[in-house]
Amino acid sequence: MSKKSETKAQKKQQMETKSKKSKQMRTLMMATGGVFLLLLIIVGLVSFSGNNGGDGLNVPYAGQPVQGDANAPITITEFGDFKCPSCKAFTEEYFPYIKRDYIDKGIAKFTFLNNPILGPDSYTAAAAGEAIYHQNEKAFWPFLEAVYKHQGDENQQWATQEFLVNLAKQEKLEIDYEKLAQDLKAGTFDKKVREDEAFAVNSGITSTPTLLINGKLVQNPFDYNEIKQLIAEELKGPQENEQK
Ligand code: CA
Repeated sequence: MSKKSETKAQKKQQMETKSKKSKQMRTLMMATGGVFLLLLIIVGLVSFSGNNGGDGLNVPYAGQPVQGDANAPITITEFGDFKCPSCKAFTEEYFPYIKRDYIDKGIAKFTFLNNPILGPDSYTAAAAGEAIYHQNEKAFWPFLEAVYKHQGDENQQWATQEFLVNLAKQEKLEIDYEKLAQDLKAGTFDKKVREDEAFAVNSGITSTPTLLINGKLVQNPFDYNEIKQLIAEELKGPQENEQK
């Protein structure tokens, strides 16, 4: 083989190797591109569903205490336990900001569901809340605040029927105290408490307080910036978020 033809043959081989390599590269790029495209689609779907409520929990709002404008675009839901010290802290220290910035401005309404996790008297207190709500919807919120104000040790059973009825009297709630005592004794509203609890359990809500904004979980209810951000996202809606 002459030097010339040898070079030619080598070149040909090189070309073949090159084209083979570039073919492999193209295949790889196509595969990578495909994966990337798929990722983009997934991310897009997730962020879309995140903005249009697709991944939000379907909270049973009917028959739950609510404060604020019924037509407010944002619904904030708290899952709470009357005996829980963190719920007391949330209501006393953080809720006033939510009220000032969102509820009083008609941007959000606020609703409460029971998630009794601390003991048998968590259920008693929750049943008292339900009984009061079913007598006078507006009396629920001052009752909740009063229980937190007089909250005892979470490891002791202090939220007895007697304590709760006396507290309602002491706070001069506009309800029939005798009926409250009877409802507690008869367990009239235990079912309502269990319904809230079942929803929480089925939704994987295990701690209190747990906050949802339009059904979407707030990672840290004590992070006001997270709450503000989630509300802002919900207010933007899916279309504006997609244009970003
Ligand atoms: Ca309820």
